Amino acid sequence: MQAVAPLTAVQIPCCLCGVLTAPNAANQCASCLAQEFDLKGRLQRGPSGAPFATTYQCRECRRFRRTEKHHEHAGPESPELLAICLKAIPALQSTAEPRLHLIDAGWVWTEPHSMRWKVRLTVRTEIQAVTVQQRVVVELHNAFRQCNDCNREFTNRTWQALVQLRQKRSDDAPKKGLTALEMALAKNKEIRKHVLKIDAVRNGFDFYFLSLSYAQAFSAYLQRVGPMRVKTSKKLVSQDFTNNTANMKYTVVCDLVPFCKDDLVLIKKGAKGKLSGRLALVTKVSSVVHLMDSSPKREALLDSQMELSPDAYYKQEKLYTILQASNRTIPFVVLDVDLLENSVEKYCLADVQVARQSDFGVNDEVFNCVTHLGHLIRPGDVVMGYDLVATVGGDWEVEESLHNSFVLPDVVLVKKI
Ligand SMILES: [Zn+2]
Ligand SMILES: [Zn+2]
Repeated sequence: MQAVAPLTAVQIPCCLCGVLTAPNAANQCASCLAQEFDLKGRLQRGPSGAPFATTYQCRECRRFRRTEKHHEHAGPESPELLAICLKAIPALQSTAEPRLHLIDAGWVWTEPHSMRWKVRLTVRTEIQAVTVQQRVVVELHNAFRQCNDCNREFTNRTWQALVQLRQKRSDDAPKKGLTALEMALAKNKEIRKHVLKIDAVRNGFDFYFLSLSYAQAFSAYLQRVGPMRVKTSKKLVSQDFTNNTANMKYTVVCDLVPFCKDDLVLIKKGAKGKLSGRLALVTKVSSVVHLMDSSPKREALLDSQMELSPDAYYKQEKLYTILQASNRTIPFVVLDVDLLENSVEKYCLADVQVARQSDFGVNDEVFNCVTHLGHLIRPGDVVMGYDLVATVGGDWEVEESLHNSFVLPDVVLVKKI
């Protein structure tokens, strides 16, 4: 232990140990200051209060972890390993005052299989305007933790079943269906327990499992949360004729019905169900899709709603098209609401008059429509809705697909904001 004090004729005794020292704010000698500051304790401490810092090594490839994604080879007592150890010591990374400056670092021998490192550090710091330099031996622990590369390889070798969750929507449409499933999975630890690996892919996710039964339990859960068709296929990977075993890999494809809440869906003539040949709004998505007529018949709320099962959808997939998704809605201002029924249900039909918010102060264009949101809106409210006058009006392909009795509404209100 040594102190670098400015050369001065006057010296005072340290107030703690009595050794003669240059006068300073604390009236203490450098070694007493260092002790009080607990330099050794500070350096020894690991992250978040652990009694020691830890280095991580992959048992398979023997590489050491530098960052979350980067592992590298480093020999025992090598400069590379020393750098990894120094980076693992929080006190050396800390920017809190007083800052520690590393002057020198070297190895202290440890038994190779002890899973311990010892490094000798010389650090310098300023405590109460006194420069203190001290040499400290710090012990670190080494722990095994599989690196990402080895984990990936392990998964590729061992997985037996794959669940492919897909929702095919146009790239610019919001992907609320997948997001909802992701959130449900994030909350359910039990159901994620057997997932070996998750890959994000275009239009969905791949989940890997050790066995088909895990994959099936997983897809059964997904099916309860979202509307989907589930299909399992198998592929022979290798066969051993001597002991009559076969190595199969299974793929469970979960096709999520592409509709999300608030989508405006064109149901072409010929589709089964009471909304055939009409435009419908997706009001809710659970294990089935809940649809509401976009232009409900007055006083016929029940006739205007339908549940679409994944089976029914995939049987007539070609007869359903997403006309617009919620990112195409614009704000309308409600001018007048005339309730058509006295219901206490979730929805209530009403005749409403609205104007585009952007038209205010520009023109006097107003639109009339029948909405299921009668209970929820009052004159003056701003409601998001589809502007079909500006976007779909005159599209013969759309009109061709619709039933004769269906009058294309000017506006379809979706939700109050
Ligand atoms: Zn002292
Ligand atoms: Zn590894």
